[in-house]
Amino acid sequence: MVDCLLCHPAAADAAFDRVRLWEDDLWRLSAVLRGPIPGFAHLEPLRHIPFVTDLDGAEAATFGPVLARVTDALRVAADAERTYVYVFGDHVPHFHVNLAPHRAGDALRGGPGLLGSQRPRRGPHGSSGRGSGSAGRTRLTRLA
Ligand SMILES: [Zn+2]
Repeated sequence: MVDCLLCHPAAADAAFDRVRLWEDDLWRLSAVLRGPIPGFAHLEPLRHIPFVTDLDGAEAATFGPVLARVTDALRVAADAERTYVYVFGDHVPHFHVNLAPHRAGDALRGGPGLLGSQRPRRGPHGSSGRGSGSAGRTRLTRLA
């Protein structure tokens, strides 16, 4: 048995001050009531799936359509321009998507604005930040 907060939705709702917006037999969408972003929400599978790289089965088959529907529903409900989608996986070992409705003039930033002001010393695979793009592109091209 995995000791996982998101596998205990009532405890997760209390911990994050969440309310359920929608749920089916695979996915759950919850709004986080505290914090600086109105409409901020979590989309997570009911089944324990540790990280996005572990997605399989029915959750993998439905993830795209579910993500499209809930991000659009949040955008409309929050009167936002778009809904930003973040997957980090650093703190809770149960795959979840952070959804942040973005409105003009709010504090959210896309693109390079997402990065902090400090530059990393090492890239994600031990390489320096500069020059690692070519190697990364080569590895990704092999996946296609
Ligand atoms: Zn879990």
